[in-house]
Amino acid sequence: MSNPHQNAVAQLEQVAALLRPEYSDAARFDAAIEQLKEPDRVIEGMISVVMDDGSTKEFQAYRSQHNNARGPYKGGIRFHPDVTKDEVKALSTWMTWKCSVTDIPYGGGKGGVVVNPTELSPAELQRLSRAYARFIAPHVGPWVDIPAPDVNTTPEIMAWMVDEYEQVAREWSQQTGMTFQENPRATFTGKPVVFGGSQGRGEATGLGGVYVLQELAKALALHDPSEVTVAVQGFGNVGYWFAYHAHQLGYRVVAVSDSRGGIYVPEGLDPAAVLACKKSGKPISECDVPGSTIVSNSDLLELDVAILVPSALENVITKENASKIKAKAIIEMANGPVIPEADSILEERGIVSIPDVLANAGGVTTSYFEWVQNLQGYYWTRDEVLAKLQPLMTSSFQTMWQMKEKQNVSPRMATYLSAVKKVIDVMLLRS
Ligand code: NAD
Repeated sequence: MSNPHQNAVAQLEQVAALLRPEYSDAARFDAAIEQLKEPDRVIEGMISVVMDDGSTKEFQAYRSQHNNARGPYKGGIRFHPDVTKDEVKALSTWMTWKCSVTDIPYGGGKGGVVVNPTELSPAELQRLSRAYARFIAPHVGPWVDIPAPDVNTTPEIMAWMVDEYEQVAREWSQQTGMTFQENPRATFTGKPVVFGGSQGRGEATGLGGVYVLQELAKALALHDPSEVTVAVQGFGNVGYWFAYHAHQLGYRVVAVSDSRGGIYVPEGLDPAAVLACKKSGKPISECDVPGSTIVSNSDLLELDVAILVPSALENVITKENASKIKAKAIIEMANGPVIPEADSILEERGIVSIPDVLANAGGVTTSYFEWVQNLQGYYWTRDEVLAKLQPLMTSSFQTMWQMKEKQNVSPRMATYLSAVKKVIDVMLLRS
């Protein structure tokens, strides 16, 4: 497939072919599917930023609002030189499915700016973030579209965007003489905790994946966690917290890695100790862990383990290495770690792959909790947040697994089937 939007449309067509027999009115069903192939709208334009040298630079900016049948559009904002309109459209489509699969009351959105943020000074980055917030301000709001961080955007950037959005709201009130009714803080999630962010957000994606691991282990009859070996690629926010919580629950985490390679410890390792070593400035491969051997990132993917957890980059499992994967199951914590051609090889080999839209949905679920807390003006403790995460992740997995058994399809197809079905059902009720 030549581009991500075409991939998303092709996926939707496959799902539609399986779902169509369940609907008595095929014409209305097909009309809803056609609508879902394109976003409801894409807001696009150039945003101007004054650079430190006094010149003005223009940056291409997008916000794609895919579908809001189940609730306001929701999705991150990415700052990256490779952002394209088709990528943003595809990512907004996948957000619709991600929010649906976890039953959180949102549709899908995504934003992006074509920029290499490492080439900007902190002051330029702030001006770009504020310009983007101003650009999307007429199209977002807590009941309309709720952006969040994504690649290269941080809690601090969300704070700048909220602040700018509040400024736009004040200007609007002055111009119209009307009071701005919306809650600006509930318009962006992923904010710093001191500025209305949620406790527990940092670890939520990794922990959400571990709740998926627990359900998957039950489904595969892997009853004793100490015998379930786990290899985690990537030791950033997602990979570390996945490894940490899996270890806390007694799973045997045998391998971890960062961009410079990793270690393999057949008896199991303590992720917190590895993090302490990494914080001292060493790459993981130089950490002195008893019984460890050094593994490259490609070796890690091919280890003989029960569960493989790619948590770093996209496209790491390809047609070249899919036939060498020895894990029983893959939990896709990174976005898009398995390319479609590899997926069919894994499926033929009986390797279960839990797709990213389900496995890493703990992040957007906690964004939803942040929004709820902002709207209530009532804030929860970390334990309250994490306790609310578990039932949502568990039931998402169980719904997916039942669909997989009923339709005799892969977990990926089952995930899309249950996600698309919920969106279509609401669209048909509304039409
Ligand atoms: P991060 O930047 O905190 O960590 C990335 C990790 O990957 C680092 O440990 C880095 O050393 C490692 N890495 C980089 N290049 C590598 C390579 N070539 N081989 C192996 N490891 C490499 O990022 P993150 O927030 O943990 O996100 C990881 C993935 O999870 C991304 O695909 C992201 O889109 C996805 N994701 C993140 C969240 C979230 O809440 N952070 C939510 C959903 C999905």
